[in-house]
Amino acid sequence: MTPRTEPHAGAPCDLRLSDATLADGSRAIVDILGDRVAALRDPGAPRPPAGRTIDLGGALVLPGLSDGHVHLDKCLLGLPWRPHAAAGSVRAIIADEKAFRRAARIPLAAQGAEALLERMLGGGTTSLRTHVDIDDVTRLDHLAQILDLRARWADRLQIQVVAFPQSGILGCPPVAADLDAALRMGADLVGGLDPVGIDGDRDGHLDVVFALAERHGRGIDIHLHDGGAAGLDTIAAIASRTEAAGLGGQVTISHAFALAEADDLDLGRLAEALNRAGVAILSSVPGGRRCPPIPRLRDLGVPVCFGTDNVRDCWNPATVTSMMARAQLAAYRFDLRGDADLARLLDPITVTPARVLGLGPGVIAPGARADLIAFVAGGVPQVIVERQEPMLVVARGAVAIDRRAASTVPAP
Ligand SMILES: [Zn+2]
Repeated sequence: MTPRTEPHAGAPCDLRLSDATLADGSRAIVDILGDRVAALRDPGAPRPPAGRTIDLGGALVLPGLSDGHVHLDKCLLGLPWRPHAAAGSVRAIIADEKAFRRAARIPLAAQGAEALLERMLGGGTTSLRTHVDIDDVTRLDHLAQILDLRARWADRLQIQVVAFPQSGILGCPPVAADLDAALRMGADLVGGLDPVGIDGDRDGHLDVVFALAERHGRGIDIHLHDGGAAGLDTIAAIASRTEAAGLGGQVTISHAFALAEADDLDLGRLAEALNRAGVAILSSVPGGRRCPPIPRLRDLGVPVCFGTDNVRDCWNPATVTSMMARAQLAAYRFDLRGDADLARLLDPITVTPARVLGLGPGVIAPGARADLIAFVAGGVPQVIVERQEPMLVVARGAVAIDRRAASTVPAP
């Protein structure tokens, strides 16, 4: 049962969502004042005045969704189709992307960042973490543009920014100093990239990343595509450094492909280390053989969040931007069909990112940020398997998307 507090008698609200069905199946009235949920009322409770009331007719209401990993500055949705050109290695794609950037310096908002934000909000995402390239071509230019974009969208979206060394750190001389400058400019976290596969020096790379985090009092989010023993050793090293630095709860390993190759013994050992250190795993639920064993990690207590990663960019032409669609990819990938298994897929896009990334309200409760999304559905499992778009998105207390007039049939 969703906890409810006794609403302040007679307290007015700006926006009221009446006849809502919560995820646990109970009915409620949701009162919103400013950008916060002011009260959850039982359907028969007295109703003080409301500035505006929207009757949801029993629609399912969930907290706004969180996307734990995107690349706003890479997205090319604003440009004509660009065929995927790069060979399969990370190094080859980095080279292709740099060639593209040198040839076409297009403002990031027009290149695709703005279109991506619109699509994400339309799918019910109200909080996101974006990585922003810091390398010898972009220097701090992308960061400046994305910080500007964040300010312009602040009334609708919570956006965390990671200063991301896309070309590595040790082999790309200006990057270490630029990461330091990026954290002073307003980046929230420091990133990292394949300490072994790109920089060829696990400890040297991690030394720089952890020193920056400690110096600036910020969190860490490291891209780790490295597989095999190098990847597994790096995961263990990140966990032990996090514990030593007292950075528990502030460190995320994105992708962690090596976990897909771990045997049961290694997985248990690493899960214990990650849990002890307070390190989260972020997955885009990739195809192929690289997807970490998400249900098994959940059973071992490791916090797993989902993210979109690449959207029509030099890395991947894919255009799945909705987190409900991302949850459905996990259901498909791991052959999850029962209602309980499907309903649990809401955690990596709501409560878990709120707890371990500081993204999103995670819940609908008095005092929580008023990011809410509504669906015509019999429950969370239906929303996920049908990859539904919300009929209503309330972001920071205001109606951001309203599709009620066309909401009787779920989106394909
Ligand atoms: Zn990424």
